[in-house]
Amino acid sequence: MDLATARQRLEEMLAELDRSIGVLRGDPAGAREFSAADAGAGLTDADRARAMITAATVQRAAVLEAIARLDEGVYGRCADCGEAVPEGRLEARPEAARCVPCQGRRERRR
Ligand SMILES: [Zn+2]
Repeated sequence: MDLATARQRLEEMLAELDRSIGVLRGDPAGAREFSAADAGAGLTDADRARAMITAATVQRAAVLEAIARLDEGVYGRCADCGEAVPEGRLEARPEAARCVPCQGRRERRR
């Protein structure tokens, strides 16, 4: 994936996340549309919206960091070991900051 494509995909993700967060925070019609997807999970609409806002906010931060790495010219390098992050991983998750082994180590440490 070339850097221009990566940037375009990240910017699209950012726009989509901003839209989703805006909908979840304010627009009742939009919130109904989201919660209808998995009704009956035992959560209120407000709980569900809060959980989705949290997840979207975390992902938004990761996307912003990835755009910053593009600007710094270090995009596609693992933030921990400095090795190239495999192409397939960046295709699936353009915001990924680490290779799979480093991400795994980081998640186990939490
Ligand atoms: Zn690594």
